[in-house]
Amino acid sequence: MSHPDLKRRTIEDSTEEVVPATDVTFDVTTDIVVAGGGGTGLVAALAAAQRTDGTVTVLEKSHRLGGNTSLSTGMIPAAGTRFQRAAGIEEEPADMAADILEKNDYEADEEMVRHLCAESPNLIHWLVDDWDISLHFVDDFTYPQHSEYRMHAPPGRNGENLIDELGERIEETENTELLLHTPVKKLVVDGEEVVGVTAGKTHTEAIGADKVILGTDGFAGNRPMVERNCGNISEALYYGADGNTGDGIRFGASLGAELAYMDSFQGHATVVQGIGALSTYAVIMNGGFLVNEDGERFGNEAKGYSALAIDVVDQPDGMAYEIFDERIMKKLEGEFDDFDEAVELGSYIDAPDIESLAEELGCDPDRTAEALESYNAAVEADEPDSTGRVDGRSVLEAPFYGTTVVGSLFHTQGGLLVDGHGRVLGEDGEPIGNLYAGGGSAAGISGHGAGGYLSGNGLTTALGLGRLAGIHAAESLE
Ligand SMILES: Cc1cc2nc3c(=O)[nH]c(=O)nc-3n(C[C@H](O)[C@H](O)[C@H](O)COP(=O)(O)OP(=O)(O)OC[C@H]3O[C@@H](n4cnc5c(N)ncnc54)[C@H](O)[C@@H]3O)c2cc1C
Repeated sequence: MSHPDLKRRTIEDSTEEVVPATDVTFDVTTDIVVAGGGGTGLVAALAAAQRTDGTVTVLEKSHRLGGNTSLSTGMIPAAGTRFQRAAGIEEEPADMAADILEKNDYEADEEMVRHLCAESPNLIHWLVDDWDISLHFVDDFTYPQHSEYRMHAPPGRNGENLIDELGERIEETENTELLLHTPVKKLVVDGEEVVGVTAGKTHTEAIGADKVILGTDGFAGNRPMVERNCGNISEALYYGADGNTGDGIRFGASLGAELAYMDSFQGHATVVQGIGALSTYAVIMNGGFLVNEDGERFGNEAKGYSALAIDVVDQPDGMAYEIFDERIMKKLEGEFDDFDEAVELGSYIDAPDIESLAEELGCDPDRTAEALESYNAAVEADEPDSTGRVDGRSVLEAPFYGTTVVGSLFHTQGGLLVDGHGRVLGEDGEPIGNLYAGGGSAAGISGHGAGGYLSGNGLTTALGLGRLAGIHAAESLE
């Protein structure tokens, strides 16, 4: 049997991703094709369907909707929503933009960041008011370097619930149709314009369309593409949806689209080893910390789970040990579906004292106890600890909890350069006719590498650009 990666194409190989219209006869036609039934695609389809009587056809490669959006906590950041105001928080989109840009040292496209932040309250209000999507305001913890509470979450803080509701709205909307098990294979092109796609798993059909929106996410599930572009995380566990093999990015690149930030990705520092459950970063941001097998702290956990993922990968055996206490365990139980799932799967062990916990976990007991003592002393003195950490700390007290974690790759953040309407731009800076992209298929807003990813950037570009692309595509139908 051949290794599945060998079948995965890269931008560098010579396989054609576009087919001239003269070589196909369309089996069917529609008005707008949306490739990918994840966050970008479903939101784009709803936004488009609202503005046209024409048909919007969503084609999803997998047997189910959702992609990484289902795996996510579904928390959507937005500044200036009425939910934020009701919680007594006065924040402007510019404040959210400042957090995003500071996190990536202003490497991201500032105009795009400001634009998506300005649109962020419109996105939330539109989801809730126009589509009755259930979102609640999260005001019990902040992610690293969020200067305010600004997350709007689906029930259970679980992206699957968001996807279920978006999928239901698609079903209920008359001028949308949805086909599962239907990967888009190629773009059909007439001159410089996209005029359709070919799609299908075993039987391929040609579908004519006036507009095509790419919501096929990034390439984290395509090992050769990760190795070429994001080398330092390519050995880590991939913790994302299988379908995200860079298809839309390759389609656009074949047409001469400009690519940007291809080395950008979100890693995660605390995926439970062996079990594969996510140990939510709320464990850390409520006061937990990590040590390596020698019982040493090796990084400031508050710099973020993405930047820290590389540090974890660099530890002996690529592992680390997450230490927290009963207060945190009690606080988080029932708050996050993924945390509850990790607990249910037996991810965490507990012990009456730190030495016994370390022994059971497999890290040096005496050094781990020293790390705890020094951490607690720094918290009590309100001083930076040995890693320079000052945020999200609390004194940890017996009984203790812990687990073994590995660094992992969640998703890539580089891709097709788009404008403020999600139109894919060519190397000359001009839009490629009829082609749109959002989410992981588009260039992200996290700068380069792993360190620039601020929590929420993924859904900001997915749902934000998805909505804008849907609006523009529908409004520019002839
Ligand atoms: C575990 C995890 C937790 C996360 N938590 C958060 C969070 O809390 N907040 C946040 O902002 N971000 C989070 N992210 C990132 C966020 O989930 C993604 O950035 C976002 O969901 C991407 O949306 P998307 O629409 O681009 O892709 P997806 O939601 O992945 O959807 C892409 C879809 O396209 C389909 N597809 C691929 N190729 C084709 C093709 N050729 N034809 C048809 N369909 C195709 C895929 O099967 C998939 O269903 C998380 C990611 C992971 C993995």
